[in-house]
Amino acid sequence: MKAMVLRECAEIKVEGEPRRYPSLPLKDDPLELMDLNVPEPGFGEVLIRVSACGVCQTDVDIVEGRRVCKLPVILGHQAVGVVARVGGGVSRVGVGDRVGVAWIGWSCGSCNYCVRGEENLCGSFKATGCDFNGCYAEYMVAGEAYVYRLPGVYDDFEAAPLLCAGAIGYRALRLLGMKDGLTLGLFGFGASAHQIIQVARKLYPSSRILVFTRSREHATLAESLGADWAGPPTAEPPEKLDRAVDFTPVGEVTARALSLLKPGGRLVVNVIRKRSPIALDYTEHLWMEREVKSVANVTRRDVIEYLEVAGRARVRVTVNVYKLEDANEALKRVKVGGVTGAVVLRP
Ligand SMILES: [Zn+2]
Ligand SMILES: [Zn+2]
Repeated sequence: MKAMVLRECAEIKVEGEPRRYPSLPLKDDPLELMDLNVPEPGFGEVLIRVSACGVCQTDVDIVEGRRVCKLPVILGHQAVGVVARVGGGVSRVGVGDRVGVAWIGWSCGSCNYCVRGEENLCGSFKATGCDFNGCYAEYMVAGEAYVYRLPGVYDDFEAAPLLCAGAIGYRALRLLGMKDGLTLGLFGFGASAHQIIQVARKLYPSSRILVFTRSREHATLAESLGADWAGPPTAEPPEKLDRAVDFTPVGEVTARALSLLKPGGRLVVNVIRKRSPIALDYTEHLWMEREVKSVANVTRRDVIEYLEVAGRARVRVTVNVYKLEDANEALKRVKVGGVTGAVVLRP
């Protein structure tokens, strides 16, 4: 089978950008196209013929060493495909079923976090496309307890970005403690935020939603999806925020978002690693009971609920499809930012 494999971490070369990680090699093509054997599903596992694979900011983090993974590794944790074969003991899904796979690939099931359904915080949590091989390939293997049925209203390419960008965004929305009528700010407007604004619009009809993005195209998309205002993060918004989500890898944006919160406001940061440090001043950013919280991984419940919510709300997903062989180009576009919607690979 064809697979795009990461053998060693590298800084992804982008014209005009300064070097950030001089200890890593600088590469145009950090992923290598390889011809590998189709993997065998083990006990409790299924083999999936991949038809679409979402590209995530986290994949850029993995390539550039900000998220440590096994190496070599096949990236990709937003997989859509059809079950091609099942291992022993599999009973929930069968050959021919259309399924999705998300970032959460395994958790211990017995620690305090797992027992209370917070397997995203499990100390032995394992991630798809990181701790085991993911979907930048024609086939992948996944545990049957970690595959999901997909809403019929989406084609395979549209369904892929629901599984991470959407599901993690949905978790961020839950952690916000959002209520109808509160003013919500979204910082960054990529694969995740363009889905979450539609859910927020449905769930909180009288809330005002302000979108902070430096891309004019993103601002236009935001307005078409229900934003009450859109402008760059440095612009003065028409009002302060009760709740906000920061989707950007930029440290300064976190400080900016906190400075725009009303007293008692809350910010959720929805990104694994910031590429620049977050410099906070207690009085300017946190005083008056303002809070900041991170969002880590996803639980199975997040994924299942979001797939249902998105299908019901008819969340529109904008996708840019690349051939699997062009995964390096796709990664570069995600790293640079400015993609309108989500990037998806077609094996
Ligand atoms: Zn992701
Ligand atoms: Zn656990």
